Amino acid sequence: MQRATKIVATLGPASTSPEMLEKMIKGGVNVVRVNFSHGSASEHTTTVRLVREIAARLGRDVGVLADLQGPKIRVGKFVDGKVSLATGDKFIFDIECDEGNHERVGLDYKELVNDVHPGDMLLLNDGRMTMKVDAVGRTTISCTVVLGGVLSNRKGINRQGGGLSAPALTAKDMDDIKVAVGFEADFVAVSFPKNSADMYMARELVRAAGGKALMIAKVERYEAIGNLEEILKASDGVMVARGDLAVEVGDAAVPALQKRMIRMARELNKVTITATQMMESMIESPVPTRAEVSDVANAVLDGTDAVMLSAETAAGKYPLETVQMMANVCVEAEKSQAVTLDADFLNRTFTRIDQSIAMSALFVAHHLGVKAIASLTQSGSTALWMSRLNSGVPIYALTPEEGSRRRMCLYRDVKPLLIEFEHEDRDALLARAEARLIEAGVVVPGDQIVITIGEPIGKSGGTNTMKIVKIGEHSAR
Ligand code: PEP
Repeated sequence: MQRATKIVATLGPASTSPEMLEKMIKGGVNVVRVNFSHGSASEHTTTVRLVREIAARLGRDVGVLADLQGPKIRVGKFVDGKVSLATGDKFIFDIECDEGNHERVGLDYKELVNDVHPGDMLLLNDGRMTMKVDAVGRTTISCTVVLGGVLSNRKGINRQGGGLSAPALTAKDMDDIKVAVGFEADFVAVSFPKNSADMYMARELVRAAGGKALMIAKVERYEAIGNLEEILKASDGVMVARGDLAVEVGDAAVPALQKRMIRMARELNKVTITATQMMESMIESPVPTRAEVSDVANAVLDGTDAVMLSAETAAGKYPLETVQMMANVCVEAEKSQAVTLDADFLNRTFTRIDQSIAMSALFVAHHLGVKAIASLTQSGSTALWMSRLNSGVPIYALTPEEGSRRRMCLYRDVKPLLIEFEHEDRDALLARAEARLIEAGVVVPGDQIVITIGEPIGKSGGTNTMKIVKIGEHSAR
């Protein structure tokens, strides 16, 4: 059975050798994530070039997601690299401190003193430590440790309940956008957007640099939850960034938010990535916990387009095994997913011709029980619309456009396939499309499929025809 849910794997020291990249791509990675929070621009560019070389050699399409660091607020450095703080200890964040000790540490975001107030809770190191703000001075934030632990160099700091004024795009992000456009990133993920304006600005910068990447909003700020619909409308997709989100809204609120985000995104024809700690224990262990298996399966049942691996593949001991395990869990979960297409259609409205053809094809494919849907597409939008509803029928998107194929690597249920559009009539192209599907091993003569196509051929947004075809009969007619 073909896997419908896609796998995004973060690259890092554990996964950037040519051998491991090849194994991971063969093992099921659809999209690689290069994380601009770590590594240099030239390292990322080299890695992406290597991924593309290997993918081309294997005859696979692999998307590249460039994840911008965003305004992650971090403490400065300690003279000894770290300090151990006990519950009840007093501690100061001091914007003028260069080298920290057990009494104080610096901050990379000087405005934090204007954003916090006595009584606020500050969470450090992904919520593993908590401090309560006692007093705020011109350059200092004085706190009492509520939950102690070890605080080391450059650990992240969040305010519970959000409210930090840091803009979503830093100067570094603006430079990194140019790097990402330089290596033709297929997706750009914006960290910590608060509203649609943050996403519009990021998109403008990508387009101004000449990039065509799909824009992914990482929802990880408290404020973003209230602005979810406008953020989604300004984006092409959303990442449920459960790490920082959990710190800002509280762990217990995240599962329901994940379901809400995925549902809303699908209704708005946007893609979704569910991220963070999906197979966390596999950083050290060759097998996941039962809870991790359930977490991945539940994200699949929620309808996510993709599940993401972070440190598991970037720095873990078992990157390949993690990908293989995740792929198995996805396939197994998909088998139990109910098809409720008729009910799902009730909430859909559409006015565009190409979208109407996409919806008709889906309806027919489901009710006739065809083997596959084939979409001859330029931009991939027909495949996107069809993949927003679960029909239980795989979608093959045939296109000469390499960028479209790589972007479709993230769409659930969609498998991109290369086909050249030559100067030929519709019947000749349809016959070649059938041959391509047979060659890919997804249909055999006698199978019934639904094909969508646009006439004149090769015009973006031009899908206006749906045809029900029995494989093998078309070329004989
Ligand atoms: C997250 O916070 O869940 C996340 C994906 O962000 P990052 O890994 O970039 O911190």
